[in-house]
Amino acid sequence: MSQTVAIIGFPWDEHSSFQRGAAEAPPLIRRALFSDASNMWTETGIDLREQGRITDAGDLDLYSSGDARERIEESISGVLGQSLRPLSLGGDHAVSYPIVRAMRKAHPKLTVVQFDAHPDLYDEFEGDRYSHACPFARIMEEGLADRLIQIGIRTMNAHQRAQAERFGVEVVDMRSWNGSLSVTLDSPVYVSLDVDVLDPAFAPGVSHREPGGLSVRDVISAIQGIDAPIVGADVVELNPRNDPTGVTAIVCAKLVKELAGKMLES
Ligand code: MN
Ligand code: MN
Repeated sequence: MSQTVAIIGFPWDEHSSFQRGAAEAPPLIRRALFSDASNMWTETGIDLREQGRITDAGDLDLYSSGDARERIEESISGVLGQSLRPLSLGGDHAVSYPIVRAMRKAHPKLTVVQFDAHPDLYDEFEGDRYSHACPFARIMEEGLADRLIQIGIRTMNAHQRAQAERFGVEVVDMRSWNGSLSVTLDSPVYVSLDVDVLDPAFAPGVSHREPGGLSVRDVISAIQGIDAPIVGADVVELNPRNDPTGVTAIVCAKLVKELAGKMLES
């Protein structure tokens, strides 16, 4: 096991369309991750506290200076340049476009697996091409992923369906979810995990609650079932303002833990 995972936070929600708040998430996910309420072992038997397994690159201050997307991309390139695998904490889903830009430079073959209630394929949303409703349109336009596989979708509309066809997106929508991730993966994988893929019964602390989603167990099993190296990941869209009990932050920490475990495996 020679990989090391770098946790890095992007407290940024400038491109959220409906509610702000996702920028407040990274410290709360960290607090839940390192809480004494649980240990740091993954279900697959890896102790994340062991030396060299994870390192914390901190949160990027994206409001101080410079272009936020450029700074996100540069910071991920920096992580990759140290031969670390980035596990990013959002922030809203707009962070994933600059992250995947950096990932692509390091990985000539790359499959993106997106867990989300929403396809996020709008050409533009309310006049904003960089909205959190648009990142996967930008990613596919620029050819940043060889394949985009979307899991848990349940808000497809006519425009986004046309976009999915245009980009050749492989959509596993909620209606056709059969309990496991039954796709063959043949290249390194980037996992983008929008926590609103979960049913709001499990994860109410999101900006866009969409009933009829996956369970926490479903998502963990799907992550554990990814049969290819996971070279990077993000967990995005926790909105602490909608999470008064803090349970969604704990769910995010659990998903971070299991993602990190898989990222260390191969
Ligand atoms: Mn999303
Ligand atoms: Mn979503």
